[in-house]
Amino acid sequence: MGTIIGAGASMLREDDVSTNGSGAEATAADVDLDVVVVGAGFAGMYLLHRLRGLGLSARVIEAGADVGGTWYWNRYPGARCDIQSVDYSYSFDPELDETWKWTEKYAPQPEILRYAQHVADKHDLRRDIQFSTRVESAVWDESASRWQLRTSDGRTITSRFYVMATGCLSMPKEVDIAGTDRFAGEVYFTSRWPHEGVDLSGKRVGVIGTGSSAIQSIPIMAAEAAQLTVFQRTPNFSMPANNGPIPQEKLDALAKGRPQYREAARWSGAGVTVEISTTSALAVSEEERLAKYEDVWEHGGIIQVINSYMDNLVNPAANELLCEFVRNKIRATVNDPETAEALCPKTFPIGTKRLCVDTGYYETFNRPNVRLVDLREHPIASITETGVDLVDESLEFDVIVFATGFDAMTGAIVGVDITGRDGLTLKQAWSEGPKTYLGLMAAGFPNLFMITGPGSPSVLSNMMVSIEQHVDWIADCIDQLRADGLSTIEPTPAAVDGWVQHVNDYASITLMPQANSWYMGANVPGKPRVFLPYAGGVDRYRTICNEVVADDYLGFERRGPDGQRRNDGVVRRVQPDVQLMLEAMAGMNLPTMDSMSAAEAREFSNAIAAQRAPGPDVGEIVDGVLPGAAGDLTYRLYRPASPGPHPIVVYFHGGGWVLGSHDSDDPLCRDLCVRSDAILVSVDYRHAPEARFPAAADDAFAATQWIAENAAALGGIPGDLAVAGWSAGGNLAAIVSQLARDAGGPRILGQLLLTPVTDCDFSRASYTENADGYVLTTPLMHWFWNHYADPEDRTSPKASPIRAESLADLPPAMVVTCEFDPLRDEGAAYAEALAAAGVPVRHLPCRGQIHTSLPAVDMLLSGVQIRAEMAAAIRGFFTANVPA
Ligand code: FAD
Ligand code: NAP
Repeated sequence: MGTIIGAGASMLREDDVSTNGSGAEATAADVDLDVVVVGAGFAGMYLLHRLRGLGLSARVIEAGADVGGTWYWNRYPGARCDIQSVDYSYSFDPELDETWKWTEKYAPQPEILRYAQHVADKHDLRRDIQFSTRVESAVWDESASRWQLRTSDGRTITSRFYVMATGCLSMPKEVDIAGTDRFAGEVYFTSRWPHEGVDLSGKRVGVIGTGSSAIQSIPIMAAEAAQLTVFQRTPNFSMPANNGPIPQEKLDALAKGRPQYREAARWSGAGVTVEISTTSALAVSEEERLAKYEDVWEHGGIIQVINSYMDNLVNPAANELLCEFVRNKIRATVNDPETAEALCPKTFPIGTKRLCVDTGYYETFNRPNVRLVDLREHPIASITETGVDLVDESLEFDVIVFATGFDAMTGAIVGVDITGRDGLTLKQAWSEGPKTYLGLMAAGFPNLFMITGPGSPSVLSNMMVSIEQHVDWIADCIDQLRADGLSTIEPTPAAVDGWVQHVNDYASITLMPQANSWYMGANVPGKPRVFLPYAGGVDRYRTICNEVVADDYLGFERRGPDGQRRNDGVVRRVQPDVQLMLEAMAGMNLPTMDSMSAAEAREFSNAIAAQRAPGPDVGEIVDGVLPGAAGDLTYRLYRPASPGPHPIVVYFHGGGWVLGSHDSDDPLCRDLCVRSDAILVSVDYRHAPEARFPAAADDAFAATQWIAENAAALGGIPGDLAVAGWSAGGNLAAIVSQLARDAGGPRILGQLLLTPVTDCDFSRASYTENADGYVLTTPLMHWFWNHYADPEDRTSPKASPIRAESLADLPPAMVVTCEFDPLRDEGAAYAEALAAAGVPVRHLPCRGQIHTSLPAVDMLLSGVQIRAEMAAAIRGFFTANVPA
């Protein structure tokens, strides 16, 4: 085997982990401390500083021989930061901020390492850091309320608190290529590059991998080596660093006020203040779009590029436009068209892996001594004694460089054998993927903190900002426990489950899960495939963490000699995109509808409807008039593009019997038409207070009768009729189903009731739990009822369908309810009552949704699956596929 210079715990540099601790003296076999911190990267260093400031006894254990973490280990040629150095630096020490001068926009690794060493010197950190020592195991001792750590020098340390500052990208991925240990030449890992450097001159070098590390190092290695062969499995998107002096606008912004500049970064989405677009890439001309792309490409960085348009990371079509812009840059740079095409990423959306930043990467492939091997076309069969055997060619090398990445985010944490309460190991607890609360702690592991752990923004941000936020939160938490006379803290299982759900919910409204990235754990064979970081942004995340503290440590249990404080709860339950919508609405300071007259409310709701996304195209839209119970009613028919005739769904819009029209629910009708391949006829009906109860119900039934009679003329299949409606329209659809049953026709094959009004009773819990804050409020429901029906009429089944004498023999139903809706419980009660009466019914409770989520087509990605299920129910009505 060649000179393996290290790949992970098993292959660390020999001079790093020794059996004798250096730095801080481990004076006794058993040391007891307030806090042990693992890792002396930027996280561990700042935490040590904070803990000392609190007067706590603390020690940092570090596997490397000095501070710096990432910047200590990753010494490959060309290593630099990808966030500008003035941003990628500590903010906690204003003096440091003023005195340290970065030489370049993106400082090289040696300079960043010198910076870390300078901070260690300035704050005299090394005296409490034990270098060249690895923490191997940690066991929670319940009786002593302490962690017991075993280190590679054979010692035991006990501590009240134990913090993993072990880094998201510190555990190199095990090499998973056959024959790696057979190679007789030199082997290097970018993540464990020799301190003394490597002389590649005159050598034949093979580089495996094309991630950030490879992309930074390849141009430099190519200039030195006799030949360089790049083995690429998946091409990556990379943008030019355009490195040089710190840009003037940065210097100007800093000159205006450093504290304000830093504070703005803390409250930004990615930990760097950049302009955030509120425009869709699809809403501007090609010329305008390309000009914008060029601008961020030339003058911005990875965060500006990804934020160039608001929908880059959520809309595949918008993303593809940016992808193609970058591909064209590659095509324009690389001379050989075949090589250029092979370098163009086509298998994942841009931004779903961290965008790379390079200096001359694509240009390198124009050099005569550089060759690209596309492993998708020519897979590696094995590494041999002399080089690499592809399935169709043998290549010989003097040196192989592995730039194959890391077991990211969880590798270093579960790399320590951690056992919590009741013998539960962290590996077991995380066997299906990491489960944390806020990315800070795990249930069953008291007093164990993680810095930038899975479930926090971490790697999706300028990590310096995320590190400082976590360190401050943890230090403040420990300080508060001490002040409160408490000794332990851990999250509750419900808080953890809720947070894991929220992290997944956020990821799933983005394109992030579509890439086989290390964010997804997809780069390590056998690793559970879950999205690891929190995609909600640094600013939103900081708000949540602060809120948890302000709410008396919501989701945590804290214990002390005087008892326990358990504040169980879930910090975010509303779907993230719904939350964004609510925040946007709150920012508009809109008046409440129940403070308006009916006419004003109609005008207001029409104005809101006019601003919405239009919904998908359908085959044909026909506006018409039909006879209602007391005069003509307008309707809008949506016909699918497929050849007819089609089944017909009569649809009733929402609006509390007071407002709304076929315009207000137009996007939803389009969506249901496309997805279900049925005609939707959205019928207007008379509104209150001008036409009070039972005008709306009578109109709805009359319209349904007319549509049934005229089905063939409308392009429908006679007899294939269902009803649907949202909110008050759901009320009407339920009532029409009852009236048709009682009148002996028309025959209705199914009823789709979307967050329907089913009862006039306000005593159900959802009216109090969701009384305010979720658009439809309890006062507004009172306002609707008051406009529509006198109190003595409200208990009629024609107003409150749940009060019908019998619900037997009604059409099969799907009832959709939303968690944060005052109408939630009466919808659920109606579904239950239908089922009890023997009606086939499916109740679809929508987690984290609000009353107005269902018609918000093209605004809420979290509603897509719900609408797909609604459409499936409609199809089921017509194929006698009774809902289950
Ligand atoms: P690390 O710096 O990884 O430090 C963790 C330390 O813990 C390591 O020194 C390790 O030896 C030690 N350790 C781990 N396990 C044990 C154990 N069991 N016992 C003892 N010691 C242990 N982020 C950005 O925001 N911008 C950038 O430009 C950027 N560039 C990067 C470039 C590279 C090449 C890499 C790999 C990452 C980059 N990152 C960047 C992410 C980077 O990891 C963080 O910015 C930051 O440096 C992490 O600091 P940390 O202290 O959390 O972890
Ligand atoms: P990486 O992004 O995970 O890239 C690893 C590369 O190795 C990928 O191209 C991968 O291909 C390839 N690979 C892995 N196993 C392979 C195998 N068995 N056969 C063939 N190819 C294989 O790792 P990285 O480049 O070290 O970067 C990791 C992260 O560190 C970055 O995303 C970034 O956050 C940070 N970083 C930042 C900078 C910077 O610019 N400041 C520099 C370096 C690193 P597949 O894609 O097909 O898996």
